[in-house]
Amino acid sequence: MIRDNIQHIRNEIAKACSQSGRNESEITLIAVSKNFPSSSIREAIEAGITDFGENKAREFESKCADIGDSVTWHFIGHLQTNKVKYVVKTADLIHSVDSVKLAAEIQKQAEKAGKVQNVLIEVKTSFEESKHGLAEEENIAGLAEFVKNQPNLALRGLMTIAPFVDDEKIIRESFRSLRLLRENLSSEGYDVPHLSMGMSGDFRIAIDEGATMIRVGTSIFGERVY
Ligand SMILES: *Cc1c(COP(=O)(O)O)cnc(C)c1O
Repeated sequence: MIRDNIQHIRNEIAKACSQSGRNESEITLIAVSKNFPSSSIREAIEAGITDFGENKAREFESKCADIGDSVTWHFIGHLQTNKVKYVVKTADLIHSVDSVKLAAEIQKQAEKAGKVQNVLIEVKTSFEESKHGLAEEENIAGLAEFVKNQPNLALRGLMTIAPFVDDEKIIRESFRSLRLLRENLSSEGYDVPHLSMGMSGDFRIAIDEGATMIRVGTSIFGERVY
């Protein structure tokens, strides 16, 4: 079933790309395996998935230990400073940097680990209460500058979660604002190639608005049971 789901998603990505004049090779499909066991991850690897996303530090740590580093690991969840050390060990990319305090802790742990940690800045592009991420453009610029000046951090782009609404216009607006923000940072000299946006319900819109990484859980692994 996981294999069929992945094939279906790949077809949908291809369709979305051809509709928006993009190349499939520009888009990384991240399989979000949170709440699913390592056996599901192995099934996805068999079906050709190379990138996995997790949103809880301890779960991330144990799955990385279980599966190993033959795949690319993305940390996509809200990260508390006291859990940074569990994530920096094996994360290829941390998508959820939303404060100078968090960036400073990642810098510290990355230095200890002797690595340069790739990060994205998480931006709040909707006005729902529960969302993490930065909302003010000046704070985003300030954080980008801070990250740029850290020897063990590499800023790679921006991430957002669209609002959970049915109105496609509102979702598109959210993705578009992330793309415009990247254009602004780019023109100020930041090297920010990546836009991590789009989930099971909205990745087609995200691709149309320029996503380079989409994070898909439910449509690959099924409904999560909490
Ligand atoms: C869970 C999660 C996803 C995947 O969501 P689905 O709707 O299951 O595809 C993507 N991004 C983040 C940050 C998540 O926490």
